[in-house]
Amino acid sequence: MNLILMGLPGAGKGTQAEKIVDKYQIPHISTGDMFRLAIKEGTDLGKKAKTFMDQGELVPDEVTIGIVRERLSKPDCSTGFLLDGFPRTVAQADALESLLQELERSLDFVLHVDVPQDQLVDRLTGRRICPTCGATYHVIYNPPKQEGICDNDGATLIQRDDDRPETVAKRLEVNVQQAQPLLDFYHDKGYLVSIDGSQEINQVFEDIDQKLKSLV
Ligand SMILES: [Zn+2]
Repeated sequence: MNLILMGLPGAGKGTQAEKIVDKYQIPHISTGDMFRLAIKEGTDLGKKAKTFMDQGELVPDEVTIGIVRERLSKPDCSTGFLLDGFPRTVAQADALESLLQELERSLDFVLHVDVPQDQLVDRLTGRRICPTCGATYHVIYNPPKQEGICDNDGATLIQRDDDRPETVAKRLEVNVQQAQPLLDFYHDKGYLVSIDGSQEINQVFEDIDQKLKSLV
C-alpha cells in the first residue's frame, strides 16, 4: 500500500503513523529521516542536500525528489510506504506522481487526519516535554503520574516555546495555508481520505484501518 499521511501539528499524525506501520509493516518515511539517511550513506544527492542544509537554505525540489526516488527504490518499500512530510507543495506532488509512474507504482490513499483548529490549539498548548529523556506528555490527554514531573526520570517538564498559545495559532495558520493547495490537489485527483482526528486515538486508527483493509 502506497500512502501519504497528512495532518496539521497536533493532529496525532505521528501516533497514527506508528499504528499503521506496526499493523501493515510498511516503512514510515518522514522527510527528516530520509535526508539523514541519504547524508549518512553519502550518496551524491545526500551530499548536495547537506550543502544546502548547512547553509540554512531550502533543499531544491530536484534534489529532494531524487532522494525520495532513492528511498522508494529500496527493498523495504517493495510492499508499500507511508510518506510523511512529503510532498509539501503541489509542485512536489506533481513530481511525485511522475516518479511513481516511472517506478510503475501509484498512490492508494492520501490520509488526512483532520482536526478543527481550535481543538489543535488546546492540544498543542497542553503539551509538556521532558528535557532529559524527551518523553512527551499532555496536561489533559496524557498527564504524568505527578503533575509537572517526568515519570521516567523525575525531571521537571517544560513547555516548548513553539507550544505557547501566541506562537501556536500563528504556526497553525502558516501550516493551513501551506497544506490547503495540496489537499485540494489530492481531493481533485480522488486520493484524499479525510479521517476525523478529533476522536479518541484508537477510534481514529479504526477509521484509518477500515480504509486500509480494502487494500490487502
Ligand atoms: Zn524524562
